[in-house]
Amino acid sequence: MTSHLVLGILNGDDIGHEIVPAAVSVTKAAAVITGLEIDWRPMPIGRSALDTHGSTFPEGTMETLAKMDGFILGPIGHQAYPKVPGAINPHPIMRKGFNLFANVRPTKSFPGLGAIHENIDLVIVRENNEGFQPDRNVVAGSGEFRPTEEMTISVRVITRTGSSRVAKAAFEIARQRKKRLTLVHKNTVFKLGCGMFVEECYRVGKEFPDVTIDEVIVDTMAMRLIRDPQSFDVIVTTNMFGDILTDEAAGLVGGLGMAPGLCIGEGNLAMAQATHGSAPDIAGKGIANPFAMIESTRMMIEWLGHNRGIPQAIEAAAIMEKAIASALANPATRTRDIKGTTDTKGMTEGIITALH
Ligand code: ATP
Repeated sequence: MTSHLVLGILNGDDIGHEIVPAAVSVTKAAAVITGLEIDWRPMPIGRSALDTHGSTFPEGTMETLAKMDGFILGPIGHQAYPKVPGAINPHPIMRKGFNLFANVRPTKSFPGLGAIHENIDLVIVRENNEGFQPDRNVVAGSGEFRPTEEMTISVRVITRTGSSRVAKAAFEIARQRKKRLTLVHKNTVFKLGCGMFVEECYRVGKEFPDVTIDEVIVDTMAMRLIRDPQSFDVIVTTNMFGDILTDEAAGLVGGLGMAPGLCIGEGNLAMAQATHGSAPDIAGKGIANPFAMIESTRMMIEWLGHNRGIPQAIEAAAIMEKAIASALANPATRTRDIKGTTDTKGMTEGIITALH
């Protein structure tokens, strides 16, 4: 019998080897309860794949993933890769190759975890494939170059297509929530670049008359996220602004371990990827907070459930949501970075126990 979903498991580097297996075991347990059949396909990637396959991104990875419904990508610690030909950063290749242009990053406060405010529940939708990121805003070469020894030029790419498609993804999310979308930009300075982004957002907004739009300049947003984050629901912004604001938002609710993410695009493939990096400083100690990775995977299951019309997946995501909240409510089943007393394994087991 064929499975409902075929999902890739790519551990990534450092704490990826701890938190990705945690996400898989929680999802497996939820799937058994709801009758969701998942065909899991572990694949090599990262530093360990360099040793075993001669590349951090072995040949054929994209082709194999393209046949799946989605995959979990653990954090990639590419900064620490040795400077050898096979050591490349797979992120931009995957995001571009699968056209994963929308990075959906929720921020939610849970009581007792050290959040700066209670009742924070917002989603930042970050454009993922253009903007200021020089590793992905051009098809060849880099979006940064140095014409003379004392001058560097960094190019920011904004397109109508890139802006309108991420806007559409954000409006769709806003429609399922409180029907409010905040555009974050700086068109006071980037009159053409941010100007185009804003224009496209309003153009797309005409298809979503039920969603109210407002705008906040990015520097004001940095301040307002600290002072009144509860006044926002869904936010859409360009790549670099989104990158910075999502880390800031994570800081509001307990740190990077609390920052999940889902990358989606025009195609059918979804990629679960936590906001945080590979945290080499705590790798191998068994203390990493698995929440972001587990929640990213849960978001993927939920998204695929709706996208493919699989009720067992929607139900699995729903029971995972409750179990995660229940484990987070108890210091004995949450990690130390979020005022808990246990480790990665203890928190994972706590969530699995709460599923039943
Ligand atoms: P990148 O640039 O790849 O996103 P980064 O520079 O933002 O990486 P991280 O690897 O995310 O850095 O780590 C930043 C800090 O947050 C480190 O002190 C790390 O230990 C901590 N951290 C990150 N993820 C987790 C986690 N899941 N659990 C606990 N601490 C974490």
